Amino acid sequence: MKIDILTLFPEMFDGILGSSIIGRARDSGILDINIINIRDFATNKHKQADDYPYGGGAGMVMMPQPLFDALYHVLGDSPSARVIYFSPQGRTLRQDIAGEYIDMEHLVLLCGHYEGIDQRVIDKFVDEEISIGDYILTGGELPSMVFIDCISRLIPGVLGSSASAEDESFSHGLLEYPQYTRPQSYEGLSVPQVLLSGHHGEIEKWRRQESIKNTLRKRPDLLEAEDLTETERRIIDSTES
Ligand code: SAM
Repeated sequence: MKIDILTLFPEMFDGILGSSIIGRARDSGILDINIINIRDFATNKHKQADDYPYGGGAGMVMMPQPLFDALYHVLGDSPSARVIYFSPQGRTLRQDIAGEYIDMEHLVLLCGHYEGIDQRVIDKFVDEEISIGDYILTGGELPSMVFIDCISRLIPGVLGSSASAEDESFSHGLLEYPQYTRPQSYEGLSVPQVLLSGHHGEIEKWRRQESIKNTLRKRPDLLEAEDLTETERRIIDSTES
């Protein structure tokens, strides 16, 4: 997948996109990520990319000219690329929509700053606005990193084991069960016996039950949509009473 990120602050991406799982996916060629500095496309003498808002008010707005030219540049060879603008006004990113993007060949991610971007850029180029939650950040750089991290781990080959993406919280509507690693006992705190039993059926059953209890404790809203068995409903009733 090719991803072009349009930003006024390319240096913000240095650490995140070069390390760990995303870094390896880039090295192996699964992800081809390019950071494009919008300011490089500004044609005015001072390479200015923002200006005062028409109608007055606080803050600055990113100007159309550098953005239009940066977008013409990245879309030149692939006019069908999907252009996403990160905005608190967009559709909220959730695990259940992340999978929609993994087969796309070319994404163009537009990071706003200040008061945002001139509306004409949105009207002409943007296919979709995506928010990462109902709060305001200073720029679209963090949202674009969150988005790339979230979708890329669903692309086959990016994670070591495909099972690890399927088994996470939200992927089956519930939160995940508790995880333990060695040692068996630490400062008097022990790993649940069932996990040491080697009995896969019992382990699966325990994990499903703990998943339900975890969801009930932390995100009971998720359980409303979940298709639970009679026995699982009884677990909830006994935990609640
Ligand atoms: N004036 C805008 C509004 O009220 O909708 C907010 C501008 S915000 C300060 C600056 C930039 O940060 C936005 O253009 C957007 O790219 C990004 N941004 C801020 N919060 C975001 C969020 N929750 N999700 C996605 N992008 C966000």
